[in-house]
Amino acid sequence: MSSSSSTRPSIDWAARAAAVQIDGRPVIEGRRVDTQAGLQFDCISPLNGRSLGAVSRGQAADIDAAVASARAAFDDGRWARRAPAARKRVLQAFSEKILAAKEELALLETLDMGKPIQYSLAVDVPSTARCIAWYAEAIDKIYDEIAPTGPNALALIQREAMGVIGAIVPWNYPMIMAAWKLGPALAAGNSVVLKPSEKSPLTALRLAELALDAGLPPGVFNVVPGYGHEAGEALALHMDVDAVGFTGSTRVGRKMLEYAGRSNLKRVYNELGGKSAFLVFPDFDDLPRAAKTVAGSMFFNQGESCNAPSRVLVHDSIADEFLALLAAEAPKYQAGDPLDPRTVMGALVDAGQLGTVMGYIESGRSEGARAVVGGEQQRVETGGYFVAPTIFDSVSPGMKIAREEIFGPVMSVLRFKDEAEAVRLANDSPYGLQASVWSSHIDRAHRVARALRAGTVHVNQYDEDDLTVPFGGYKQSGNGRDKSLHAFDKYTELKTTWLRINP
Ligand code: NAD
Repeated sequence: MSSSSSTRPSIDWAARAAAVQIDGRPVIEGRRVDTQAGLQFDCISPLNGRSLGAVSRGQAADIDAAVASARAAFDDGRWARRAPAARKRVLQAFSEKILAAKEELALLETLDMGKPIQYSLAVDVPSTARCIAWYAEAIDKIYDEIAPTGPNALALIQREAMGVIGAIVPWNYPMIMAAWKLGPALAAGNSVVLKPSEKSPLTALRLAELALDAGLPPGVFNVVPGYGHEAGEALALHMDVDAVGFTGSTRVGRKMLEYAGRSNLKRVYNELGGKSAFLVFPDFDDLPRAAKTVAGSMFFNQGESCNAPSRVLVHDSIADEFLALLAAEAPKYQAGDPLDPRTVMGALVDAGQLGTVMGYIESGRSEGARAVVGGEQQRVETGGYFVAPTIFDSVSPGMKIAREEIFGPVMSVLRFKDEAEAVRLANDSPYGLQASVWSSHIDRAHRVARALRAGTVHVNQYDEDDLTVPFGGYKQSGNGRDKSLHAFDKYTELKTTWLRINP
């Protein structure tokens, strides 16, 4: 995910924020409904620790209602059996509605999960809209196949929608993560029940309303907010859900597989955590650019990105110079008011995440690492959850801050002596989401890129990204791929139909 800055300076975001009224009720069968048990939780804004309003705490009974609605919508063909061109027009209209609501959605995203308004506006909303439009465009451009069998029969190989998809998503990019599931799942003709994170449910609920406005039939896209161990578990265990597209932690991804085993063996696609390595070799001829790139990618979204390059591996001979460059970059990412359009780093999502990140900083210090910059909370007087961009030197591979995903603005710098050690350190992780190699020698860059066990390897850059390329991980970073045409593999079944043509 990349950053850019464009916003209208004239908008008084604080005034708009003060006027926000949220509706936290589920969207089921095309309308807002009350949950059956009537339970709610407070939606706390990380900007100041205050409640934005009440959100429904969906339970198994609400998930049952949403799945029943999605199943009926799928079975009667109101979406799945519509002409591809008609489905395409609806999803294109959905994308346009998202763009038309850009300021409202951006504000909700920032208030709900703490990211700077300039990025909600310039990254999250347009990326969400583009993703829906990209899959809409693909709908009538994918052809079925005929297998090269003998002359007496014809074998048609077709992709069919799977049925009801449960989508369970995290809070770091609430809309984008939802769109990565919704785009291919809806384009393929499925119905969806989306369970957003309890930490950031607001934009998902609005997306469901915008989809209805765009002409998506009721029941095709339902959203039930709630806690993971309640609504999320009920969805993942549901006997009438055909597949779960999950993005979140490796801990919960493991549970998704268990739930499938305990219920109907539904397909489970996990997009999980990361601890991505960024390898800097002494032959790279533009260290300032490497430092700028790794700082930008690490501190973007407050470090709450699954692909954050949180393990920086630097050759001994350039490590001091590189650390000095990093230390000069970090202050550019001081936490600020997320509603100020100039702010580049916002608030962590909640008090729990603040505690987790500060705990890792403490553990880094107590295990002997040295915080070159940062290490403290910021803007404490606001009541919000802000942490300074933090860089640790003297990190050894066994330390917790080198091994575990922190999901906050904390970078660990480790040193290596030669290429073999660099590759060994990079691969010494249960995760394998992304990696980056910095070298001015094509043979080394290519050799190292091939040796790295990661779903995406960048060479001499980090933030290039496009819907046309698959996104996902090796090892415990998950299975399956979001984005690109490969995502259709997750939400379609292959059907072979044999036709005898020469009896
Ligand atoms: P999480 O695993 O705690 O929660 C993710 C979702 O699962 C939420 O909606 C939550 O309510 C739900 N959930 C929690 N417990 C559940 C249970 N027992 N049963 C069913 N659902 C349950 O993750 P998070 O803290 O929201 O997000 C951060 C994680 O997401 C990080 O590990 C990050 O790396 C990962 N992530 C991965 C990608 C990727 O594409 N690989 C992208 C973004 C985030």
